[in-house]
Amino acid sequence: MIINGMRKTGSFFLSKSQFTRGLQCHKSLWLFKNRRELQQKPDASLQARFDAGNRVGILAQQLFPGGTSLEYKSGISKNIQRTQELIASGIETIYEATFRHDSVLAMVDILRKGKNGWEMYEVKSTTETKDIFINDTAIQYYIAKGTGLDITRVFLVHLNNQYTRRGELDLQELFTVDNVTELTLDRQADIPQQLGDMRKSLEGGEPSIDIGPYCTAPYECDFKSYCWQNIPEYSIFDIANLRSNRKFALYYGGILHLQDIPADFTLSDAMQIQVEAELTGRKFIHTRNIREFLSKISEPIGFMDFETFMEPVPSFDYQRPYQQIPFQYSLHISEDGNLAHHEFLGEPGIDPRQAFIEKLLEDTSSCRTILVYNQAFEITRLQEIAKNFPGFAEGVESIIARIVDLMEPFRNKDYYVREMCGSHSIKHVLPAMIPDLSYNNLAIADGEMAMLSYAGLSRMDDGDEKKKICQDLLVYCKLDTLAMVRIWEKLANITQPKGQLSLF
Ligand code: SF4
Repeated sequence: MIINGMRKTGSFFLSKSQFTRGLQCHKSLWLFKNRRELQQKPDASLQARFDAGNRVGILAQQLFPGGTSLEYKSGISKNIQRTQELIASGIETIYEATFRHDSVLAMVDILRKGKNGWEMYEVKSTTETKDIFINDTAIQYYIAKGTGLDITRVFLVHLNNQYTRRGELDLQELFTVDNVTELTLDRQADIPQQLGDMRKSLEGGEPSIDIGPYCTAPYECDFKSYCWQNIPEYSIFDIANLRSNRKFALYYGGILHLQDIPADFTLSDAMQIQVEAELTGRKFIHTRNIREFLSKISEPIGFMDFETFMEPVPSFDYQRPYQQIPFQYSLHISEDGNLAHHEFLGEPGIDPRQAFIEKLLEDTSSCRTILVYNQAFEITRLQEIAKNFPGFAEGVESIIARIVDLMEPFRNKDYYVREMCGSHSIKHVLPAMIPDLSYNNLAIADGEMAMLSYAGLSRMDDGDEKKKICQDLLVYCKLDTLAMVRIWEKLANITQPKGQLSLF
């Protein structure tokens, strides 16, 4: 509703998440309260992370079993009243205890009666305690304490990424419990002022706040598409590896376009190549370096790519929280102008690693060089397999010894054209080098989608839909290695004297 040119805000009540949103940016809080239609909806990957976080929260309750759980669907007012009744009844543990104080609402993941008073536990699905989480515990403490509850200790519960599952889940090992009481208390004095500032900002019209580093940190703001709408599609914000504060120094100085960057603004060599290529269209191709790189490669050449999934709570033995588990590979083998293809896709719901490595060892046995794109990823996965399944260690070592990283010439800017937009990821390099080969029309078009699709397979019954997703996964991964073949061909052609080489 607009009154006298001012938008009247709907409500000054805040939830814990609205408070932390307001700490990041008052405009974000205002838009959330008044222009929710501008908010970007979470994509499938963010939604999957939310869902995983909820599952971790429910599992952590079992650290303190036997408590009473309050269901969100019962309604806030009812849960606030029920929390007070449970506390008065002498209960020991409540999950999602709900409080309101100073018009701010909080739900405490686990509230437990300790020896000297009540204890609050905030559960996070991360593998460490981060400073920003103290904002959550601080506002929860402020609210619960404000209702008169005697809280003596505050804890953050997070996953322990050093825990390796063997047999049944060991919750005491899976979770780490950090005492954050002191840090939480240290922030109490600031909260009344912070809430006052947020409410003042909510009383007026849309805050006049320009974009800034706070648009992406500590969280990616879900109003970016609105606030960043006037930023050109390609701007100083696209200079790869330029630190955020330096980008904003340019922006606040009125510079948005690459051509306006002052001559005395220091850029690394790689950044200068990106800027010059964009402004002039010049191609940067360092033939001698590319030739040197290619000299490390011998036929038969394997072009290899892995797909992985990860999950906060390990499902299998010898798996850690968030460990990347390879479930699929594609392998093209090139020799004397002939191209053969091999692939593997793990059975959903079963630990894929043993079958994966058995087939991979067999399929790569003839390869003298194994090309991957970004070798750190594949090598780390192989080393983890060797650690978790020592019987394969020797074979794994032999694969690693033959790996060469096809990303090298692109990371070193030995081949750079403007279409790469400062990136050396294969998703940018491929369309720039081989425009006719594209991921655009694939049902599964990136690693994140592949991971989510595979994770969903274990919950599906056998049938056409499951078959189609498996097929989509195979098509996607195969394109990744075919892309590598075509990129290698192109590099080889560039370095040959004209008319001497024609590959495939
Ligand atoms: S995009 Fe940036 S300026 Fe806009 S609401 Fe979010 S944090 Fe604030």
